[in-house]
Amino acid sequence: MSLLRHLIDYFRLNRQFYRFTPTEIRRYQEKAVLKLVLQVRAQSPFYRDLYAEHAVNNLADFGELPTINKSVMMAHFDRLNTAGLQLDEVMDFALNKELKHDYLGYFQDQFVIGLSSGTSGNKGIYVTPKALTERLPGVFLARGGVRLSDLPLRILFVLRVFSQGFSDINGPMIKLTYQSSMTDPAKLIETCNHMRANILMAPPSLLRQLLPHLALLKRPLRRVITYAEVLNPLEKSRFATAFQAPVVEIYQASEGQLASPCRYGNLHINEDLVYVELLDENNKAIQAGQRAQKMLVTNLVNTVQPLLRYEMNDLVELGEACPCGSHFRVISQVIGRNDDVLYLRTRSGVLCPVYPDLVSRWIITTDDQIREFIVEQIDPNHVLLRLDLVGADESDVVNRLHARLDSELAAFDIDCQFTVVVERIPLPENNSKHKRFISHLSIDK
Ligand SMILES: [Zn+2]
Repeated sequence: MSLLRHLIDYFRLNRQFYRFTPTEIRRYQEKAVLKLVLQVRAQSPFYRDLYAEHAVNNLADFGELPTINKSVMMAHFDRLNTAGLQLDEVMDFALNKELKHDYLGYFQDQFVIGLSSGTSGNKGIYVTPKALTERLPGVFLARGGVRLSDLPLRILFVLRVFSQGFSDINGPMIKLTYQSSMTDPAKLIETCNHMRANILMAPPSLLRQLLPHLALLKRPLRRVITYAEVLNPLEKSRFATAFQAPVVEIYQASEGQLASPCRYGNLHINEDLVYVELLDENNKAIQAGQRAQKMLVTNLVNTVQPLLRYEMNDLVELGEACPCGSHFRVISQVIGRNDDVLYLRTRSGVLCPVYPDLVSRWIITTDDQIREFIVEQIDPNHVLLRLDLVGADESDVVNRLHARLDSELAAFDIDCQFTVVVERIPLPENNSKHKRFISHLSIDK
C-alpha cells in the first residue's frame, strides 16, 4: 500500500473523528449497520437463522435483535464467518504459531488470526482479512494516539505476544519494533536507545517495571501509549512525570478498535469503526456520568467474521462532551471487567459490589513503592492481597495498607479480613493478560 493511500485513510478518519455532527454519526452508523445486516443475512448461515424473525429497517429495530457473546461466537464459528473457515483448521494454525513463538504470517495467505486466551481460559479466535490490516498504517496514524508531527515514527512495541496484525502497522514513515514483555527491563531501555525510539507502546504493568531503569534512557520519548490493560488515572499522571512524555491510552480489543485518544488525550469511542451500545440494567442507553451495565459491540468494518451486538465483559463509564470538539462519545474510564468486581459482605449480611478501580486506587495511593499487586477474593469475608514492593519498608507499607482498606471499606459498612503477602510478582509468560483481580467466589452474583 502506498503512502498516499495511508494519508487518504488518515485524513478521512481524522475528519470523521473531529467533524462529524451527531446527526452525521447516527446517519453513518445506521447506513453501516443496515448494510452489515443485509450482508450477514446473505453470507452467514448463523445470522440468517438468528435474525430470521426480525425485520431491520433502522437502528431501533437493530436494537431488538438477539445478542451474542464470545462463547456463542466460538460455538458457531464455522457458520458465522463468511469465508468458509473451519474452526479446527484455524485453531491449529493459531496454536502452532503460539507454540513456535512465530507470530507472523497469514492463514491461507489472506487472513490474520488472533488468539485470545480470555480471563476464564476459554480461547477466542479472531479473524481479520488482510485487506483490512493492510490499511492499518492510516488507521494507526489517525487513531493510534500519535500525531503527524511525531513522524517518522520509531515505535518500540512491547506485548506478551506479537501478530501479523501488529506488524502490518509498519509502513512508510512508521517503523515498529517488537519486544516481548518478558524481556529484561534494562534490555528494553537499551533497545529504545539503539533504535532511537520516539514512541513507546506497552501495557501499564510493563511501564511499571521500567520505572526504576528510566535513568538509562538516552533520548526523550515523544509519547507513551498504553493498551491491553486498564490505565488508572493516577498511574497515568505518575507515568507522564516519570517518562517526561504525554501518556495516552488506546482501547482496543480482539473484537475491534473500540476507542482512541483525541488531541486532548481523552478517550473517544470510534463511532465509525464500531457501533457500541452502552446500556443500563433496563437495556436503556446510558447518559454521561453513568456506568454501563452492558456493552454491546458491532464491528462495522470486519465482514469476514462479523460480530453484531456482541456482548463484551468490560465495564466502562461514559464521560461528558470533550473540548476537542469531537462528537464521538467519551469514555471517561475503562473500569475493568465484570469479573474483576469484588463482592464483599456488609455487617448487615448483604453482598456489596466493590469496583476494581476503587480497590486499585486505594492500593496504588498507599505507597509509590508498590510495584505490582494481585487481589484474590477467597470468599465474601476474606481477600488475599499479594504485593510486589521495591525497596520499601515492608511492614510499614503492609500496616498502612491494612489501615487504609479498613477505613475505606468501613464507609460501605464492610468489615472484611485482608491477608497481605509480600512477594515477587512476575508478568505472565504465556498468552494471558496480567490479571490483577481473581475471584474464587462460586455464589450467584
Ligand atoms: Zn476529545
